[in-house]
Amino acid sequence: MLYSVRMRSAKDRPHEKGGKHISGAERLLEEQAVDEAVRQMIRRARMHTRGKADFISIKIERIDRNKVEEIPALAFLDLQAGDLADGRRFAKQQLLTCGISKQAVDKAFSLLLDLKDNMRGAALLEAETGERLDAFHMRGVRVSRMDVKDEAGFACWIKKQGFEGLHVREAAVLAAKVAAAPGVIAELCWSDDPQYLTGYVAAQGVYHRITPLKSFGDERGGRVFFVRSGTELNKLVQYLQEQPVLVNWNLGKQGK
Ligand code: AMP
Repeated sequence: MLYSVRMRSAKDRPHEKGGKHISGAERLLEEQAVDEAVRQMIRRARMHTRGKADFISIKIERIDRNKVEEIPALAFLDLQAGDLADGRRFAKQQLLTCGISKQAVDKAFSLLLDLKDNMRGAALLEAETGERLDAFHMRGVRVSRMDVKDEAGFACWIKKQGFEGLHVREAAVLAAKVAAAPGVIAELCWSDDPQYLTGYVAAQGVYHRITPLKSFGDERGGRVFFVRSGTELNKLVQYLQEQPVLVNWNLGKQGK
């Protein structure tokens, strides 16, 4: 049996009562790996650069292995930009290149840049008009029930491309699931970790890792998923939240 393990943590008050979001995590694990993952999640919530969480919610649910979909990892491309403006210019260019309208790209950037606080999930924008499709406001849609198929192999595959660490691993898994979702054309993301300035654009099977995409010390992060017009929204949200997936770095032979 596999288990979905989900964590969200907040400071001062629970999320529902307006507490400050500290961190979240999503795993899909064999039963024997669950205890250690939970320990790591609690540790992470208490030692985050956004603050020390004092409300931690952990949900563990059994997942039917037959329902799990295997999906390919995205190939990595890394861009070290000269400065923030350069990084954002590159991100916008990547989005335009894969067919997102200028209007939708501008909407996505103003949505993320005008946030008063960080989001907990992602905003879904229509790729032509830039219209916000989901009604989750500041919470956004949380992508869940995902992990890698072969932990050691995945870490090795990422390392071969010159990367390591939790941020990259988690983003690579999430971006792979989002890219596999029905109707999603591209994703734009930057972190809510004030010390982590790297963000990415995932599109056309490639994870364009871009540094910097935000300013040092900024605690506002967020994600935007650009959705093809005519996509069945309920089906998409159901896939993002519910469909269990394991990312197989060896599928499709992406990357080096
Ligand atoms: P992180 O990459 O964890 O620093 O998160 C950056 C931003 O991405 C957060 O502020 C959220 O808005 C969003 N985010 C994080 N985790 C998820 C998730 N599982 N599903 C959707 N959006 C997420």
